[in-house]
Amino acid sequence: MVKKNIDSEALYKEVARLMADRKQCVALTGAGVSAESGIPTFRSKGGLWEKYDPIEFASIEAFRKDPSKYWSLRGEFIKDYDRYQPNKAHLALAELEHVGIVRCVITQNIDGLHKKAGSKNVIEIHGNLMEIICLVCGKGYKAPHIPDGMPPHCSCGGILKPNTVLFGEELPVGVFMKAKEESASCRIMLLVGTSAIVQPAASLPYLAKQNGAKIIEINIEKAFPEADYFIIEKAGTALPRIVAEVNKFSHE
Ligand code: NAD
Repeated sequence: MVKKNIDSEALYKEVARLMADRKQCVALTGAGVSAESGIPTFRSKGGLWEKYDPIEFASIEAFRKDPSKYWSLRGEFIKDYDRYQPNKAHLALAELEHVGIVRCVITQNIDGLHKKAGSKNVIEIHGNLMEIICLVCGKGYKAPHIPDGMPPHCSCGGILKPNTVLFGEELPVGVFMKAKEESASCRIMLLVGTSAIVQPAASLPYLAKQNGAKIIEINIEKAFPEADYFIIEKAGTALPRIVAEVNKFSHE
């Protein structure tokens, strides 16, 4: 297997050619794709977990013990929510869907920026921070229309929880099933800005590879050694370059 890791014109051309030829491309994205929108990642330097212990703040066990603690972290995460805008990486992925190359974005992010950027087929496997659910009756709310209180309570009296998957929680079965189907049937997987260690999401690139897909990793450092191509670059730089190369092919 040829592994490429040179940041060169030739690499971008080869990757773009592969994408234009094969199409049926699925993108699996992580916190790194939103880093250039100003949202800190979990594990990279200066990331969220240097500030907060995940078990103390973002596990289902901790939530059940003291929901207001998680609500205060959520408050910090979303206080500038409207200020966070899709960056060039999100926009490039939406463009690649528009031209028929990317067929689906599977994201571990809970920030909703892929949809905001115009991607239509988005699977948010860890949920969305703007959706809120009652743990007792299951009623859904959408931020900013959340009842007051810390923690906020549903009209039925139950405690409300952001509809995101916390550490120790199972992923919604139907959602992850769809992500598995997309991964198993794609011909290219773009792995963008993910450390590829959070399970079960981390199993998806292996599933894609086992079924014959080529894996193209875009990250500021190598995170998935089994990739076929490495573009070691910020996603907001690399993805627009790929779009530009792909567009050249369609004008040949
Ligand atoms: P992670 O923090 O474990 O890894 C981030 C990865 O992004 C690293 O490999 C890093 O090298 C790379 N990266 C950083 N800046 C980049 C850039 N500009 N371009 C390309 N790559 C860049 O994130 P993860 O793999 O997504 O897993 C952690 C969990 O964190 C996920 O479950 C996700 O739900 C959650 N999370 C989400 C958000 C968000 O919604 N924006 C933010 C933080 C964490």
